[in-house]
Parts: sequence; C-alpha cells; structure tokens
Amino acid sequence: MRQTNDPLDKKNTTFGHMIRKHTREETHAAFTTARQALQHRPTTSQLCAIFLRYHDLILREQTSLLDVIQRETGKARSHAFDEVLDVAITSRHYAKIARKLLKEQRVKGALPPLTTTKVQREPHGVVGVIAPWNYPLSLAVSDAIPALLAGNAVVLKPDLKTSETALLAAELLYQAGLPRDLFQVITGTGSEVGQAIARECDFLMFTGSTATGRKLGAIAGERLIGYSAELGGKNPMIVDRTANPTAAADIAVQACFANSGQLCISVERIYLHQDIAEEFTEKFIQKTQQLSVGTGGWEYDMGSLISVEHANKVHEFVKNAVEQGANVLTGGQPPQGAVYQPTILVNVPTTARLTREEVFGPVVYLEIVADETEAVTKANDTEYGLNASVVGKPAIARRIARHLHAGTVNINEGYTAAWGSVAAPMGGWKASGLGRRHGTEGLLKYTQTRTVAQQRILPLAGPKNLKRDDYARYMSTALRLGKWLL
Ligand code: NAD
Repeated sequence: MRQTNDPLDKKNTTFGHMIRKHTREETHAAFTTARQALQHRPTTSQLCAIFLRYHDLILREQTSLLDVIQRETGKARSHAFDEVLDVAITSRHYAKIARKLLKEQRVKGALPPLTTTKVQREPHGVVGVIAPWNYPLSLAVSDAIPALLAGNAVVLKPDLKTSETALLAAELLYQAGLPRDLFQVITGTGSEVGQAIARECDFLMFTGSTATGRKLGAIAGERLIGYSAELGGKNPMIVDRTANPTAAADIAVQACFANSGQLCISVERIYLHQDIAEEFTEKFIQKTQQLSVGTGGWEYDMGSLISVEHANKVHEFVKNAVEQGANVLTGGQPPQGAVYQPTILVNVPTTARLTREEVFGPVVYLEIVADETEAVTKANDTEYGLNASVVGKPAIARRIARHLHAGTVNINEGYTAAWGSVAAPMGGWKASGLGRRHGTEGLLKYTQTRTVAQQRILPLAGPKNLKRDDYARYMSTALRLGKWLL
C-alpha cells in the first residue's frame, strides 16, 4: 500500500480555528435579514437562470473548490471532485424542472364540471440547513438549491471543521446572481447556531448522525414545522453466486473505501454467497492492498480521515471486533495521524459493536451466506435502511433488491448509480431518515400547498329546495356513474 508524506495527512483536531463561531443572537439576526429579503426575491425564472450560471461557475472554479475541500477534509482529490459533480448536476437538474414542478396545477374537482380545483405551491419561508463535514460542498449546497428555487431563503450552518468550503460555495452563488441575504452561511457550533436555526426556521433540512437527527426531530415536532433528515447507515452489499468475482471486488473497493468510508451510503458489511466467497475475498484483499493512500493530487485512491480523533474512533471499532475474535484480512493497524488503512474483517461475532453501529470509516466485514434468503434477512437486520448494493446477474439482483429495506438499492454498483440519479428520490428507511432529497420530493418538500377550489352554477350541497333524501339519491347515482366515467 502506497502512502504519502503530504502534510495534509498529519491532520490535527484544531479545525475551524479561523472560523467565526456565531452566537444565537447573530443567528436570529440572519433570520430577520432573510425574512426581509424574501419580500423582493427573484422570480422562479430568474432563480433558474442563476442556478444554470452556478452550474457553470462551479465547474469553472473547481480547482479552488477542490483545494479547499481537500485542505479541510484531507480527502482524495477525486473524491472531492465527486462533490463538484454533485453540485453541478443538482443545480442543472432543478433549474431545468423547477418551473414545471412549481406551476399551478389543475386537478379533478369535487364534482368535476361544477368544481374547478387548482393546487398552488408556496415556499415555507426561511429554510434552515444543518450540514455535516463529510461532503462539505455537496451537503452544504445541494439541499439548499431546491429550497432556494422553490422560493425560500436559506440559513445554512456547515460543520465548523469544513466551513470554508461552504463559504466559498456561497460566494460563487452570489457571483451567479443570488442576493446575499437569501442564502446566508452562519458558521458556529451545533449547540449554539444549530439549535438557534432549529428553533427559528420554517422548515428544517438536516444531514448528520441519527442521534442529532432525533434531537432535532423533537424540536421540529414541538414546533410543528416540516423536517427532512438524512441520517446514518449500516449499508449492506450482497454478492450473489452469479457475480463475476473480479468485477464484484472492484465494485466493493469503491463502495467501501471511497471518501475513506466517511460516507453515509458506504458499504460496511458484505454478504457473500458461499459459491463465490473464496474467489471474491482473494480478489477483494488484493485490490484493497493496491489502493494508494494519500491526500495530494489526483494520483491517490483514498485520502486521510477528517481528523486524528475520528481515526482513533474508527480504530476502536476494529479493536473491539478483534478482541471478540474477528480476524483482520488487511489493514487494522493503529492510525498514522488521521490516515487509516482500508480494513477488511471476517469472523466478526454479532457482539462486536461494528455489526450494529456505523463506523464511518474504511472498515468492512465479510460474512458468508448459504443463499439469497439468508443474505436478505441479514442485510435487513439493522435499525438503519439507507442504501444497499447487490452484485450479480441483473435479473437476480433486481429480484433481491425488491426485498431490501433501504431507500436506495444499487445493482452492480455500490452507491453512485442511485446517488447520481438526481431525478429519483433518495433517503432512508427506519433510523436512516425522514423525507427525501433528489427527485420531485427533493424540491416539493420545500413548498406548502394551497388548494383553491371554485364552485360554479350549483352549490355542492345541491339547490336550496332539494330535499335531503333526494340529494342523497342523486349523489349516490352520480358516484356510481362517476366510477365508470371518470
Ligand atoms: P453530527 O450529527 O454530529 O453533526 C452534523 C451537523 O449537525 C453539524 O453541523 C453539527 O454542528 C450539527 N449539530 C450537532 N449537534 C447538534 C445539535 N444538538 N443541534 C443542532 N445542530 C447540531 O454528524 P457528523 O458526525 O458531523 O456527520 C456524520 C454523520 O452524518 C454520520 O452518521 C453519517 O452517516 C451522517 N450523514 C448522513 C448523510 C445522508 O445523506 N443520509 C450524509 C452525510 C452524513
């Protein structure tokens, strides 16, 4: 395994020391400013034009973005580039469909010829976005894009460790033409700024751990505001007996170790059909050991973790599993600074913490299963339900996919196929979240509906002089006819 001496690998835990920690009062002031800005917000067409320009700016300024993402996270450049792609794709996608999605819609009325019913969509007001550190560009901006296009203002709190990326992304958005007050980045801690946002916003979009997601959900429930949460995962991959072991190993390497496993949709457990287990395992170890680890240029396959502290946390999971009898097939050594080698484990007892808890690092365990049914049962045996992957002959993989309890299932891919499909919803089942990003839901959740129903000619209750029993008879006949005609 190749390793660099790049100083970025020697990350320490003093992130965010230059970043201003705003107060609750300052956060409140940002909301006041945002509410005023909403009174002169651009039209949907103007917003669409802004986000198409943003698409171009993000691509044009990618070098600065990649540099700051890498400086803050230590991730490999190619994984930083995934974020640039994600923001550009999301911007373009929603800029192209927003007008159609937000347009007033005529729907079938109560009594169709007499009732004309239209559905209008209005923004919530100021959307609060609280984002984590692992994808500091994507997760700061990609959820804000549809919120802004839907006509809201956004107050964003990035993680303190990665706030510079969010601030640069915001500058580019202002350059694209968005009024500053409509998108404000308020840096600070979760307990101060995060809490103030949750208590003041009109809709809360949170990405982060399930533990924090639960706390914020309680606030949203108490305040009766809309809440969308993208939380943790313990994502399984099933390698069927029909899989090509070499191709499956390539897919697994990407699925487990991209972004050093610090990805909510990363694979952390692999269920191998007994017929291909040996061949797959051999190839998977070999390909994992060929990964080059470092945070310099494009040549590295995997970067460091976000911090020394996080690398130590990841190693604690591995130590705990090994103490209980797990075997290390590769990796598993104590971290060097924030660098943690990609690690594969087998024979992990169910008592090991990492069989239940999200590691959020480059650690995966393998388990051999007898058949499809056992694989699906084990894959679903978790409190999470974010992402899953099935590798094998497409028809069989699609059959397996139908039984998986997860918001996204990737066939012959780890996570990128579903993540990149921005036209389709993405989010978690069970403790992995509430609501969806991407797809029509990803924009419409930022709106509230107003149904305007107009009655013509006759009131729905019938003419004033119509006897109630006649009314009941006519309506019953109308319903029977309607069943066939409408
Ligand atoms: P975290 O919950 O600790 O922090 C996320 C954000 O919430 C940060 O900005 C933090 O400052 C803020 N925050 C923390 N406590 C808060 C509080 N009490 N009130 C208000 N705000 C608070 O999560 P993390 O460790 O930074 O991120 C890793 C987690 O995020 C993992 O569990 C990962 O799976 C999850 N994640 C999920 C997705 C997804 O799309 N489902 C994407 C990325 C990360």
